[in-house]
Amino acid sequence: AIGMGSLTSLDQLSEWFSAFAKIRKPLVIATWNNKKAVETAWDVLKSGGRALDAVEAGARIPESDPEDTSVGYGGFPDRDGFVTLDACIMDELGNAGSVVFLEKIMHPISVARRVMEKTPHVILAGAGAHQFAIEQGFKEENLLTEKAQKALDAWRIKSEYKPKINVERHDTIGILGLDQNGDLSGACTTSGLAFKMRGRVGDSPIIGAGLYVDNEVGAATATGLGEAVIKKVGSFSIVEMMRQGMHPEKACKAAAKRLLTIKSKDEFQVGYIAVNKKGELGAWALRPGFEAAVITQDGFQLIKANSIF
Ligand code: ASP
Repeated sequence: AIGMGSLTSLDQLSEWFSAFAKIRKPLVIATWNNKKAVETAWDVLKSGGRALDAVEAGARIPESDPEDTSVGYGGFPDRDGFVTLDACIMDELGNAGSVVFLEKIMHPISVARRVMEKTPHVILAGAGAHQFAIEQGFKEENLLTEKAQKALDAWRIKSEYKPKINVERHDTIGILGLDQNGDLSGACTTSGLAFKMRGRVGDSPIIGAGLYVDNEVGAATATGLGEAVIKKVGSFSIVEMMRQGMHPEKACKAAAKRLLTIKSKDEFQVGYIAVNKKGELGAWALRPGFEAAVITQDGFQLIKANSIF
């Protein structure tokens, strides 16, 4: 006779299957209105591609866009006139790669991926990261556009050293993907704060701060004032809260609230986005104006994030 035990487990099985069917996948979410980036990532996912390939392809879009002044080519330089780039990437296996203070290479996200896949390390910095990129076949290029040079010249008139993060919208990209297999990956890439001190590194290439992916739980990424995100280990904290069962929206809100203990809280913006294994999403910021680009089977959507202030 079939005992109660096996009936229960059959029930559990069908429950599990219907929960699985409800998973919203594939999907992509990115910080700000990075529409072309999520569409590019989507093209990879809709044909069954891997989330890692999708987020890398998406991140490369603003990196090569000269109009995007927060990422890659066209990014605003440091106060000495050098464009210095930070990026990191994580895959579904928990592997991570990062480059910090990289100069003259247009696609730091792809260099970060090579660090992850071709070296035993996680982070390469500055001249060493550049040397590795060249060895890997990346081209050396001038990334300082005329527009960025002009912005620096204008800033130099006053030259006050207050590298404030813009509170309005900008385009530093953190991008998270959930593929048809149900696997998660993430990427984050930036030119950092405009007119920063030479050598300054933000949160974006710091695993756990600017990005964190745990394929058993979910993924999160950040934008805004890197110093604040690093102090709170923002992305890791969101993933850990999701691990305790919090919905991504609640976890992002809780992480944004933690920023309130930072003394300069009235002067900066931080925005967080997250996704869990079910394809549930979250976006929350310290102040109004933050938005997230999302693409699913239902098409593109620009989400206006809620904020603490
Ligand atoms: N988080 C970046 C940094 O601090 C900046 C940004 O998101 O625009 O370098």
